Amino acid sequence: MTHADILKAAGLTAAELTGGTLAVRSPIDGALLADVHETPAADMPAIIAKSQAAFKTWRTVPAPRRGELVRLLGEELRAAKAELGALVTLEAGKITSEGLGEVQEMIDICDFAVGLSRQIYGLTIASERPGHRMMETWHPMGPCGVISAFNFPVAVWSWNAALALVCGDPVIWKPSEKTPLTAIASMKIMDRALARFGDAPDGLCQLVIGGPAVGEALVASKDVPILSATGSTRMGSIVGPKVAARWGRPILELGGNNAMIVAPSADLDMAVRAIVFSAVGTAGQRCTSLRRLIAHNSIRADLVAKLAKAYASLPIGDPRKAGTLIGPLVDQGARDRMLAQLDKARAEGGVVHGGAAIEGVAGGAYVTPALVEMPEQTETVREETFAPILYVLGYDTFDEAVAIQNDVPQGLSSCIFTLNLREAEAFLSAAGSDCGIANVNIGPSGAEIGGAFGGEKETGGGRESGSDAWKGYMRRQTNTINYSAQLPLAQGVKFDF
Ligand code: NAD
Repeated sequence: MTHADILKAAGLTAAELTGGTLAVRSPIDGALLADVHETPAADMPAIIAKSQAAFKTWRTVPAPRRGELVRLLGEELRAAKAELGALVTLEAGKITSEGLGEVQEMIDICDFAVGLSRQIYGLTIASERPGHRMMETWHPMGPCGVISAFNFPVAVWSWNAALALVCGDPVIWKPSEKTPLTAIASMKIMDRALARFGDAPDGLCQLVIGGPAVGEALVASKDVPILSATGSTRMGSIVGPKVAARWGRPILELGGNNAMIVAPSADLDMAVRAIVFSAVGTAGQRCTSLRRLIAHNSIRADLVAKLAKAYASLPIGDPRKAGTLIGPLVDQGARDRMLAQLDKARAEGGVVHGGAAIEGVAGGAYVTPALVEMPEQTETVREETFAPILYVLGYDTFDEAVAIQNDVPQGLSSCIFTLNLREAEAFLSAAGSDCGIANVNIGPSGAEIGGAFGGEKETGGGRESGSDAWKGYMRRQTNTINYSAQLPLAQGVKFDF
């Protein structure tokens, strides 16, 4: 299929693809896909007001009925999976199965949220006062702004939107300026669900297009009580304090610097498979990509040799082609940053295998993935580089390995390969990994939607997706009900008059 065929199949029209100020290019070959219209900053107050108006209605719709809208969204996504997946590949450069996998993740979170719409439970609490009952009730919060990154151009919106909608919150989405086309196509899918639903308020789900300035309007507005922002730690360090300063609720999903500890007892063949997928999959452009390998010194050389062999066999090139496992980086800037970081690592004593620019498809930024043996965890290793660079570090004791794993500013995902139960449990204990995600005998990337997703420290502390992440989209109200004829005060306080 040509680029034009893919855009057409996803339902994008000439009016949407031309005449705007935002140039959108495919990472595959650098081809210009569209000049998209940006949302004028002056329109943002009206867009936010529309969302507030929608909230007044949507918050009173029973949650299971709100779930019906998300159920319809899941149905529409199932029907459009192939077309939207192909567009993700075209616009973000993911290999075909990862483009489809991203849409499957959207479907999965819809299924999760539909069930959730009948499970928005609060506790009942024993009151210390006779004839009293206590409980907590969860209420909608109001409009939820969603700022998303290029590397999961549509799934991140769905994680937020599916939960926010069943929780009673309208959504305003600002996708990455690098991936507006998948966002426009997703909104068309949402519009089909809304049409079938029938009586959803106008402005329940809105899309705004542009760069940081458009996002800034959501960040600054008191009428957007929840602001979910996914992207770099640099972005989060600007957005987080601004939302907090206006007493909004930020949900921050920022950079990771994810590690795997490989212990002497590890099943090395399994570890190699997990390492390769998590380090080079999506060309190292997942927030959960494996970036640091902390290998026991007794197996380190063997592991590096196995990895070097596996790396040499990886098909790199056009992500649409069957068999390709490594597609392009998002743009030439990403490739330049990768090559510059490798130079820094060399200057710090690193031995670099791979990590060269190559011709995949003319116009795209293709690289061979890099394995970098480092003498220690230097400043370069402690930074997130959004590219397929895997730093290899050695360790002698388990405590040393955990200390290296935790000694970075980010705290997203982590894992250990070991067959030693004591090590596995210690890694998951309070004195083990300090990350939001910690796995055993499985890599750090490719999370399922059932678990809460997010990380600590400079990753921002937000949680999205499964478990009780929905609580981040609602306000908790504690209720005390007195069904007695007395008015006793708590803590035995007397106030007679
Ligand atoms: P980025 O920070 O450049 O941009 C992300 C989004 O933030 C974009 O929509 C951008 O327009 C917006 N933005 C940037 N500055 C802003 C500002 N001052 N005000 C408002 N909005 C602003 O990130 P990227 O290059 O698109 O994505 C890669 C980064 O995202 C990596 O660091 C990766 O680890 C991270 N990421 C994290 C998660 C997670 O769940 N933790 C998921 C995906 C990506």
